[in-house]
Amino acid sequence: MEYYSNQISRLISELSTLPGIGAKSAQRLAFHILHMPVEEVEQLSEAIIDARKNVHYCKECFSLTDNEVCPICSNPKRNKRQIMVVEDTRDLAAYEKTGKYEGVYHVLHGAISPMQGIGPGDIKLKELMQRLQQDVDEVIIATNSSLEGETTAMYISKLIKPTGIKVTRIASGVPVGGDLEYIDEVTLLRALEGRTEL
Ligand code: ZN
Repeated sequence: MEYYSNQISRLISELSTLPGIGAKSAQRLAFHILHMPVEEVEQLSEAIIDARKNVHYCKECFSLTDNEVCPICSNPKRNKRQIMVVEDTRDLAAYEKTGKYEGVYHVLHGAISPMQGIGPGDIKLKELMQRLQQDVDEVIIATNSSLEGETTAMYISKLIKPTGIKVTRIASGVPVGGDLEYIDEVTLLRALEGRTEL
């Protein structure tokens, strides 16, 4: 990209490090930003910096939040005796969009993947087991239906079984390897309602 001056090239190359942004998209975004009013660019960059600096894990469910405890965990109307285990915060958002789930969540931040060298100690599993020392009626495992998601579901179920807590798995109406966040709300609700005991 020698035909662009240094700062333009730098902007393009920074943008192209983002997921899903190829060289072409990075150029388009860079030129869009260069034509934006300076105040809007400042707002955009501040939003990025603020979110990155202030967002951390909820100390109860480990979803991403800028409060100590996320809005779901701090809502007294949510049923804390029902915990849905998801792989990441985007999956949680997908279930929240259905507006029908009244329990709370536990975000693992990943799934067990021997191929990628991700073991049980690399996701928030220990934290889940600690939560189960409180009164819990049901753990709903809503990891993806990918190989990693299924491996994780089996692992968790084996871990929880001896505690006597009911463990269920969402129905497999969810396409294999499909990320939960891309599945429509009706399918998600069906998967939740059709969950079976493990
Ligand atoms: Zn929370």
